[in-house]
Amino acid sequence: MALLQISEPGQSLDPHQRRVAVGIDLGTTHSLVAAVRHGVAECLPAADGRVILPSVVRYLDTAQGGSGRQIGHDALAAQVQDPTNTVSSVKRLMGRSRAQVADVDKLSYNVVDDQGMAVIETVAGRKTPMEVSAEILATLRFRAEDSFDDELFGAVITVPAYFDDAQRQATKDAAQLAGINVLRLINEPTAAAIAYGLDNGSEGVYAIYDLGGGTFDISILRLTRGVFEVMATGGDSALGGDDYDQALAAWVLAQQGISTPLTASERAAVHAEARRCKEALSGLDHNAGEVRFSAQVGGQPLEQCVTPAQFEAVTAALTARTMTAVRKVLRDAGIGKDEVKGVVMVGGSTRMPVIRRTVGAFFGQEPLTNLNPDEVVALGAAIQANALAGNSRDGDLLLLDVIPLSLGIETMGGLVERIVPRNSPIPTALAQDFTTYQDGQTALALHVVQGERDLVADCRSLARFVLRGIPPMAAGAARIRVSFTVDADGLLSVAAKELGSGVEARVDVKPAYGLSDEQIAAMLKDSFATAQQDMQARALVEARVDADRMIAATRSALAADADLLDPAERASIDVLIVALTEVATGADAAAIESATEALAKGTEAFAALRMNRGIQQALAGKRLEEV
Ligand code: ADP
Ligand code: MG
Repeated sequence: MALLQISEPGQSLDPHQRRVAVGIDLGTTHSLVAAVRHGVAECLPAADGRVILPSVVRYLDTAQGGSGRQIGHDALAAQVQDPTNTVSSVKRLMGRSRAQVADVDKLSYNVVDDQGMAVIETVAGRKTPMEVSAEILATLRFRAEDSFDDELFGAVITVPAYFDDAQRQATKDAAQLAGINVLRLINEPTAAAIAYGLDNGSEGVYAIYDLGGGTFDISILRLTRGVFEVMATGGDSALGGDDYDQALAAWVLAQQGISTPLTASERAAVHAEARRCKEALSGLDHNAGEVRFSAQVGGQPLEQCVTPAQFEAVTAALTARTMTAVRKVLRDAGIGKDEVKGVVMVGGSTRMPVIRRTVGAFFGQEPLTNLNPDEVVALGAAIQANALAGNSRDGDLLLLDVIPLSLGIETMGGLVERIVPRNSPIPTALAQDFTTYQDGQTALALHVVQGERDLVADCRSLARFVLRGIPPMAAGAARIRVSFTVDADGLLSVAAKELGSGVEARVDVKPAYGLSDEQIAAMLKDSFATAQQDMQARALVEARVDADRMIAATRSALAADADLLDPAERASIDVLIVALTEVATGADAAAIESATEALAKGTEAFAALRMNRGIQQALAGKRLEEV
């Protein structure tokens, strides 16, 4: 299914000429960098041989001299000793205000707001989440450059599927601070699916079960014609391997009758030991063996044997919670578990045999586990980076990602006019024409919103801007074209232009704060819950809008690239346009939809030809710049 096949004749794969392009998994607890070498994606180790970099940065008192900060393992080791200056889990702060960070008071460091954005107070001054992430990204960049002995051309960085514009922008800003050219941001579940080569396999629905250190994400993706569409995402932003550690630690303490509160360092030691035991248990057979939990509390040794069965019983409620989220996301996606073609396991915690067994039993199939679950996201990102950098020779696909929530503007009566529908493949550019509603109106206020509901009040406000200097005209005479452009990283810019006079205003949507995971989940849920009511009233309007859009898109495609078609192909498209134009004036939504569908189907081959041409031109342009 070579949708967007890239071939660059004469391109050399000589290692000295290939561009160093990497995939980076910027994780909440761990980060990794991977690259395709000799045709195989692999994670790059640090000088000490370890591939995992703890996503932890410790700031030192610069007044006392020294290098200023520690990153990764060193910082992690210092966390107990210097919790307030050691920043972990910074991903949860990206693109957020303090109030939007769940359990912000439980963090070991102090978070305050600065211009509506969460920042961290450290001994070395205030640090933004972008700066902290940039330290981690720069460390991985240097690792890649050392390992290839060459400069980095660019990176694909992964983000959770539910990340909104603000969080994606913050991630891009962090990369820029680290001096990294971002080839693209892609969704973590999409990267995992790519790592397993699902994009080259059969079309269908896939589930990505990602249980990490502190978060659980479940995503349902649909692969159609080389495009992964996020059908639904869910999970629990406060459920992960750490909770398994805590549950085990609490059980051991209870077994030993210890009820006195622990000191901070005892607590840290007990949790570290619980984690070690948990990981050791993953290597044991369900029915055999045990591990020894051993720590010091109150100057006394704390010893306890733990069997796999005991561990599973103690953590059963946590595992059950993940499965509740799985069932919910399937409901949201509107599919049954037997429709799922493959299940991909991601995240270190999916090494626990009980997770594999539970997930396998639920879906009635063995989940995919043969890739390292810590590495799979970085590996997929590396494959994508390699393709985007033009290194791959043999028909690798350029995968497209999709927009998670619809984008639109407010129109009369507080209604939302959706301009870019949810799940549109990106990059994308869509425009729609509006007009003034008062005679002599010289300014128009535009309100950009994100969400699935029909009322502005139910959606999220992204930005407001005003188009001024419209020449006075009768109501309805001005033609104002509002264009939405979403780049390959999912970032939005909106422009409004009065076509007669050419006056223009635009806004880049870099909102100062994002939505909390709960808010996004709630917005999606709301849209499912109320879809029925909203839908009927809206169906006809939408069908017409889609029809118009489809006609306009086809006309403009024909204007640009009609030479790709032979006369018979051209004639059959013209017939479909006429048929749709006629039916679109009627009141039968279903008929309009099916005529729109017919035109979409009838132009698929043409679209593929155009994409091919576009991409070849884009790459050709890039090569010129390089020379
Ligand atoms: P994140 O995506 O949140 O950065 P990871 O995917 O790296 O996190 O997962 C880290 C979690 O995986 C930790 O809780 C760790 O204890 C757990 N983990 C790693 N190896 C094992 C193992 N062998 N058995 C059970 N849990 C493991
Ligand atoms: Mg992860």
